[in-house]
Amino acid sequence: MESDDPFNNALAQLASITDILSVDPEYYEILKSPMKQISVSLPIKLADGSAITFQGYRVQHNNARGPFKGGIRYHPSVSLAEVKALSMWMTWKSSLIDIPFGGAKGGITFDPSKLSHDELERLTRKYVDAIERDIGPEVDVPAPDVNTNAQTMAWFMDEYSRLKGHSVPTVVTGKPIELGGSEGREAATGRGVVICAREAVRSLLKKEMKDVTVAVQGFGNVGSNCVRSLMEMGAKIVAVSDVFGGARLSNGGFFEGDYSHLAELAAKNGSVSKIPGAEPISNEELLESDADILIPAALENQITEGNASKIRAKLVVEAANGPTTPMADKILDRSGIALVPDILANSGGVLVSYFEWVQNLARDHWTIEVVNDRLEEKMKKAFHDVLNHSEKHNLDMRRAALVLAVGRVVSAMQLSGWH
Ligand code: GLU
Repeated sequence: MESDDPFNNALAQLASITDILSVDPEYYEILKSPMKQISVSLPIKLADGSAITFQGYRVQHNNARGPFKGGIRYHPSVSLAEVKALSMWMTWKSSLIDIPFGGAKGGITFDPSKLSHDELERLTRKYVDAIERDIGPEVDVPAPDVNTNAQTMAWFMDEYSRLKGHSVPTVVTGKPIELGGSEGREAATGRGVVICAREAVRSLLKKEMKDVTVAVQGFGNVGSNCVRSLMEMGAKIVAVSDVFGGARLSNGGFFEGDYSHLAELAAKNGSVSKIPGAEPISNEELLESDADILIPAALENQITEGNASKIRAKLVVEAANGPTTPMADKILDRSGIALVPDILANSGGVLVSYFEWVQNLARDHWTIEVVNDRLEEKMKKAFHDVLNHSEKHNLDMRRAALVLAVGRVVSAMQLSGWH
C-alpha cells in the first residue's frame, strides 16, 4: 500500500536521488528533517460570539541558499506532515529556479469559506502575531498559496509592520500592486506552468501548442491562469474542474471562445462544471481524459498507484505541489508518459515573488513586460537544464530536477561549513 502522507512521499523522492548525487550521509540527515517546525494555537472569537482555537504552522526546511521562502495555505486538510512536505519542495524549487532563497511553508487548518471577511482578517493577524519572531525580510518571507491571496498578504504586511513600528513591504510577497506587489505575480505560477508545457510539447511531442488538447484539474489561482495562458497560446481545452466538479467541454470537443468568456460563464453559473453545454464528469474522469496534456493544478496525491495506469495523456505538467505519488511516478514512466515535475513547472510563482522582493528592496517597480520577459527567460533555462540533464543521465525529469536542486543546496551547506 502506498502512503498518502505527503512528507513520506517527499522523503521517498529525496531518497531516490541521494545515490545518484552521492550525498554525504551527514548532509542527507540535515535535509531529511526541516530546520524548524513551528506549531501555534490561534484562539479567535467569531462574529456569533463563539470561540474557536485554530491550529497554525510554519515549517522552515532549509536556508543554506538564502532566507526561508514559501506560501501560506488555508485549508481543512492542512497538517504538520503536509506543511513539512511543502516546505521541503520549496527548498528544491527555489534552488532549481536559482533564486537566493531557501524553503518554508505555512498553513492554518480550516475552511476559509466558513469565515467572514472580518474573521479571516482577525485570524490572519493572530497568525502573524504568533510567528512574528520567526519571520522577516532576511529570515523568512511568506507568500500566497491555496485559498490565500493578495488581500491576505496585505493584512499580513500591515500586522507585521504594526508590530515593528514601520512599514515592512519585504516581509511578504504576492501583495496587492498598491502595496508594493509586483506586476504579473498573480498570473505567474500559471504562466510559468504553460511556458514549461510549451517547451515540453516542442521538445518531446514535436508539436506546437495550437496542435494539442489539454485537461486542467483545478480552477483556483493557478488552474485558472494555466487555462488563460493555454488559450492565449491556442491550445484546446477539453476538460476542466474546480472544487464543485469536473466538466468535459462542449461534449467531447473543446471550449470555443476565449478565456474571459470561459471565466465569465464559470462565474455566472457558480462553477466551471456548470457551464452550459458542458458534460459533468467526476474528478477521476477528468484525470483520465483523452487529452495530450494533463495539468493537475489542485492538491497533493491526485495521480496515485490506483489511477496512474489509466492516465491517457502523453504529458503531465504538475502545476500543483505533490500531485503525483512516487508509486505513480514509476507507473507513468513505464507507460512512456513524460512528466514535468512540480518543483520545475510551478516555480514561476516563487520566481516572481523573488522579483517582487528585489523590487521592494530597491524601492522600484518593474513593468509587466519586464517581469514577463524575465519569467520567460528563467523558466525556459530551468526547463532545458532539467531536460538536458535527464537525457544525458537517463533519468526521468523529476529525478533530474531533484539532482540539480538538491546538489546546489548541498554545495551551499558544504561551502558554509555546516559540518
Ligand atoms: N505558494 C507558492 C508555491 O508553492 C509560491 C511561494 C512563494 O511565492 O513564496 O510555490
